[in-house]
Amino acid sequence: MKKIAILGSTGSIGQSTLSICESFPDRYQPVSLAAGRNLDVAFAQCVRWQPRVVSLATEELAAALAKRLREAGHNGIEVVHGSAGTVSVATLPEVEFVVSAIVGVAGLEATYAAVCAGKTIGLANKECLVAAGELILAAARKHNVALLPIDSEHNAVHQCLRGGKHSEVRQIWLTASGGPFRSTPAAEFERITPAQALKHPTWVMGRRITIDSATMMNKGFEIIEACRLFDLPPAKIRVTIHPQSTVHSLVEFIDGSILAQISVTDMRLPILYALAYPERVDAGLAAPSLTFDLAALSHLDFAQPDLARFPCLRLAYEAAASGPAACIALNAADEVAVAAFLDGAVPFPGIPRTIEKVLNATSSHAPASIQDVLAADEAARECARGVIARHAASGLHA
Ligand code: MG
Repeated sequence: MKKIAILGSTGSIGQSTLSICESFPDRYQPVSLAAGRNLDVAFAQCVRWQPRVVSLATEELAAALAKRLREAGHNGIEVVHGSAGTVSVATLPEVEFVVSAIVGVAGLEATYAAVCAGKTIGLANKECLVAAGELILAAARKHNVALLPIDSEHNAVHQCLRGGKHSEVRQIWLTASGGPFRSTPAAEFERITPAQALKHPTWVMGRRITIDSATMMNKGFEIIEACRLFDLPPAKIRVTIHPQSTVHSLVEFIDGSILAQISVTDMRLPILYALAYPERVDAGLAAPSLTFDLAALSHLDFAQPDLARFPCLRLAYEAAASGPAACIALNAADEVAVAAFLDGAVPFPGIPRTIEKVLNATSSHAPASIQDVLAADEAARECARGVIARHAASGLHA
């Protein structure tokens, strides 16, 4: 029985992880949960899974959950809160495997602590590799910890890389659905509304990642993640537009062979792969919907991404080449700009325009600790808010 901690248990990756635990009750047991702000879902998860520890975002939420659990007769669950609470969820001694799926920098500290505590990590949080990749990878090497990607593309690459040596890799192809605007003319981008951008063609995900898919910044972050995870330079990470989202990514070897990974588009599969690694588990037994119908596959399209319409991709390549400080700023500025777009404060192309201004204002000082990362992240957010406010005040769009 593998005992697991889930950081971000009420989000979509967290819920998919619990659904895997439900399907394989004698293999995986969630023993600690970091549940954020969703009190009702956190309560239901506690009742169902009886974790040893659960953490909520704030002291007030933790007190409210503790009260509800007491009143319902569940007395054995320790309720903690805040970033210290998330760290205790991630480092609980009996936990072997930590699913890191808190969105944003809130998951950084706890994931880093889990790596230092020697836990195997299933990584779904982007900031861990985009904003703090070098620190987290150094800690993983030092503590001999495996970082197993749950993001579908990196998970696919991880699987394909089992087919050859690192020195035999020519390049990696990350597939991208292209988002809802892959065939929208550039002239129409200024008029794109949040409602249009929130409709993703193939994956159902959270709001920020859905907008990041529409701008292709999500793919940009994945380029940076791939550089870090697989120890390759940005020039060896390619992006290909693959609207069917059937091939999750490909690895091209020096002998000309390309290995691709294909499966149904369901996050439970990469989660199960990471949990079971280095074994494979029969997913079809638990959920027949997880088996791929090869006969139903008619055709697969692959196309070059358009960096002129999707400047976020270019910005990500530039940040990857520039170093950790630019990657922190890229992520922080994007989060602020996406929120501003969803609030109607900037138009869709204002997202990359804001990010580019923040990148231009960022120094190249590399962070030496997670605290440095968080400070640089906050500075970049402040800078992004300033960029947006100045343009709002001047009556121009960012
Ligand atoms: Mg992805």
